[in-house]
Amino acid sequence: MCGIIGAVSQRDIAGILIDGLRRLEYRGYDSSGLAMLDDKANLICLRKLGKVQFLVNEFKKHTIIGSTGIAHTRWATHGQPSKKNAHPHISEYIAVVHNGIIENHQKLRTQLKKLKYVFTSETDTEVIAHLTHWELQKGGTLLEGIQRVIPQLHGTYGAVIMDSRTPGILVGARSGSPLIIGLGKDENFLASDQLALISITRCFMYLEEGDIVEVTNRKVRIFNQNGIEIKRKLIKSNIQYQDNIYDKGIYCHYIQKEIHEQPDAIKNALADRLDNHNRVILNELNKKAQNLLSKIEHIQIVACGTSYNAGMVARYWFESLSGIPCDVEIASEFRYRKLAQRKNSLFITISQSGETADTLAALRLSKKLNYLLSLAICNVIGSSLVRESDFSLMIRAGIEISVASTKAFTAQLTVLLLLVAYLLRLKNKNIALEHDIVKALHVLPFRISSVLSYKDIIEVLAKDFFDKNYVIFLGRGDQFPIAIEGALKLKEISYIHAEAYAAGELKHGPLALIDNHVPVIITAPNNKLLEKLKVNIAEISSRGGILYVFADKDAGFVNSKNIKVISLPYVEELIAPIFYIIPLQLLSYYVALIKGTDVDQPRNLAKSVTVE
Ligand code: GLU
Repeated sequence: MCGIIGAVSQRDIAGILIDGLRRLEYRGYDSSGLAMLDDKANLICLRKLGKVQFLVNEFKKHTIIGSTGIAHTRWATHGQPSKKNAHPHISEYIAVVHNGIIENHQKLRTQLKKLKYVFTSETDTEVIAHLTHWELQKGGTLLEGIQRVIPQLHGTYGAVIMDSRTPGILVGARSGSPLIIGLGKDENFLASDQLALISITRCFMYLEEGDIVEVTNRKVRIFNQNGIEIKRKLIKSNIQYQDNIYDKGIYCHYIQKEIHEQPDAIKNALADRLDNHNRVILNELNKKAQNLLSKIEHIQIVACGTSYNAGMVARYWFESLSGIPCDVEIASEFRYRKLAQRKNSLFITISQSGETADTLAALRLSKKLNYLLSLAICNVIGSSLVRESDFSLMIRAGIEISVASTKAFTAQLTVLLLLVAYLLRLKNKNIALEHDIVKALHVLPFRISSVLSYKDIIEVLAKDFFDKNYVIFLGRGDQFPIAIEGALKLKEISYIHAEAYAAGELKHGPLALIDNHVPVIITAPNNKLLEKLKVNIAEISSRGGILYVFADKDAGFVNSKNIKVISLPYVEELIAPIFYIIPLQLLSYYVALIKGTDVDQPRNLAKSVTVE
């Protein structure tokens, strides 16, 4: 959450900051701001409530040219979204942008007030500005000042600080929130992710936890948490940069584009991973990984949000197909409870961004426990999760800009199913089942395309929902997590309250909610649970519920007064969860369109949840 960019150059960096902010906007969009030093070292700061475009409009009214600057797009944690709470925060000659939470900000605020500092915002961040100012009063360089400030801060931060008395220098610090260095020719940068800088450099260094960096246009000096100067690895990014990366093409919204990109995203996830003998190849898993994986007796999956739902589907697969006991837990729960340790357990984290704060914290915790190995399922090469895990499998979904995840979810599921098949050969020597999975994965992109062609039917259907306050989603077996994910999509982008239940749970409570105002959405593949599901449908129907059943064409459903059947083409049972989420994504999208919500940047949310 929150995007940070800083630049030191010999040329004007205003365009770089603004362009970077646009690229980072998906990380937070309630306000934005920038601070630059002009050629006379005047500190000029602009802040604006709302989207980055409002800041750009404001910027155009001024002529600001400078070669040192910082910028920020905010996702508020302390203090409501407003101009005064927008970053950068200033203390006379100090300007700060920050991602994270300073947990002891109240105490620091009280101390600083006693020292006559006047606070103009409600944010936790402002204490960093005043504290830096206070420390620099005692003397020393900006770097030295920050080295004295950091031990006084409790919490998480990715921060960049600038001192107008010393133009051409930025200091960055990282603990718990990502910060990378971008290296250019006679110019250097700091940012929360590569995307912000990918049009100007391919060379990056990732700061590690506790690092502090001093950046000038010619030099980068990194110090670890013990104050010792160190080197960090130089990484050449191979992210495909196209000028049109932010183009929506023929689509109106990123989420719409990303829903329709799913056949290609899945093809990418599968590329080079299936051989001609219907076997799965995972080159990322070397001999050491294979050796450890052959010993696992348990899998612990930890994730948040949509990634957690992918983990829930995977649990059904791991247990039913490869017979490996599997637990799935929400990262924010996992990290704070006393755990009973399982023997020979594989620790899997799933995160689109690889920067999800709770998932990262869970991974770090797992290292103190006795897991055999850690494996990240992630979309962002070089992200913290990937760097800190023993091994990782990239989902290769391509950049996902819409805050509500769609193609990353189906690509995660694809990679998880690949892993199931891989373990089947490695552990159970079940070649036949591996072949069945591979055959199903081969046709998956085609199956997804076929269900995407139902978009017009679903668009019409969406009209039934826009005035509803509450929707129930039901599923059985591996369709239960799909119901949960369907409900999450509807909540996220249309703001309609939705709840998902395992269909068999209905009469243990939720049946009381059924009346003719509450639509019930059900996914019904033609599998062994179909007859059970039909009983649940009858129970709802006989109580006057309105049902929408996304069913296999051969599942034997017919439209009736209160049952609307959306007949879908055949899909192999093994890949049915990946298939059945597609109509639910489309439905959420079209309902949100009718409601007129901001589908790509829903209220209160942001992508890449880097605060806990
Ligand atoms: N805690 C800071 C604030 O509320 C930073 C939030 C962010 O990461 O955007 O302003």
